[in-house]
Amino acid sequence: MLAGHDGQMWILDFLAPQSCVFCGLTNEGDERSICEGCYEDLPWNEPRLSPTPGIFVSSIAVVHYSFPVDAAIKAFKFSRKLYYAPAFAELLCSSAELLPSDIDAVLPVPLHWRREATRGFNQASEIAKPVADFLGLPVLHGVRRQKATPFQSGLAAKDRARNLRDAFATKRGMSQRHVLIIDDVVTTGATMRALAKVLMKNGVSKVSCLAVARAG
Ligand SMILES: [Zn+2]
Repeated sequence: MLAGHDGQMWILDFLAPQSCVFCGLTNEGDERSICEGCYEDLPWNEPRLSPTPGIFVSSIAVVHYSFPVDAAIKAFKFSRKLYYAPAFAELLCSSAELLPSDIDAVLPVPLHWRREATRGFNQASEIAKPVADFLGLPVLHGVRRQKATPFQSGLAAKDRARNLRDAFATKRGMSQRHVLIIDDVVTTGATMRALAKVLMKNGVSKVSCLAVARAG
């Protein structure tokens, strides 16, 4: 891509051609972002539904965080390859039948405003919006990340949990009964759990989580 100012590159990346995001194959008359061959070869998690003691009603990670998904998620987040968002949303929607039926709102994991400003977008929101549309559910706003937690990768589980203490805040008296938290990658689950605790402290009775990939 030719040098240009940041905004221009962002637009070009977003308008990349409608072909398979993994192999570049153009699928005539097929609107999916992943071709059949690549779809079959993805590192699917079996079972996608993981046992979740305690806090979550249901916890799903669709694929494993390995090739080609890991590279795609990094390009999406750190190089603004936003054309991956529909592909990741398609992966999440492929697990829709595993979700509990009483979910009444979708919550993308909030980014701290400073990181969102630097990145230009919240990757979880980009993935969650099409999923919420698909499920016919509203996207929950008003939950914010009030602490700019350092990057979690490389930290032990104990340190991740400490890092996330008081990381999220929301208004009191939330009316949602069952919120589905959506993120791109789940590693120890510490972020999802911290967020779930805040929701439940403020009136939400049940929380489930859905991630594109599970790392580790
Ligand atoms: Zn392909």
